[in-house]
Amino acid sequence: MTADRDYFLEEQRLRLALTLAREAAEAGEAPVGAVIFHRGQLVGKAANQREQLQDPTAHAEIIAITQAAAALGSWRLDDCEMYVTLEPCAMCAGAIVLARLPRLVFGAFDPKAGACGSALEVINCPALNHHPVVLGGILANECGETLRDFFRAKRGRTKRVAIE
Ligand SMILES: [Zn+2]
Repeated sequence: MTADRDYFLEEQRLRLALTLAREAAEAGEAPVGAVIFHRGQLVGKAANQREQLQDPTAHAEIIAITQAAAALGSWRLDDCEMYVTLEPCAMCAGAIVLARLPRLVFGAFDPKAGACGSALEVINCPALNHHPVVLGGILANECGETLRDFFRAKRGRTKRVAIE
């Protein structure tokens, strides 16, 4: 019973991140969204803004971490949980460790760049002294499909431009 309710909560929070990801896709950004909750309260919510800001570090997780730290007035994100639609990359996983974020939930696995064990192991690197609890693969199909749709449409546009 408790497990079911927890799973519902995880899904609900990840769906919020997914909504941000879909909005980002409409703005031409690779659709990744992230939210951070502190003791159940939303303290960070962001989508990838790399194109808009022309900033290679403007990943959803980094922006959400900055927001959460500002909201809490602390670089340490104790008692926080992050929900992100895609397995974090090396940069974001590194930031999650540096923020001492205790818990991470992500949607789709990223075999090409995921740093929670798929391509690299940063989050649980034995050399680092902080190891967040990680739960991956929640709503993985929906989160992955949002990304695949985006890149499929993008390739389609490129092809049409090339033909014209
Ligand atoms: Zn990243």
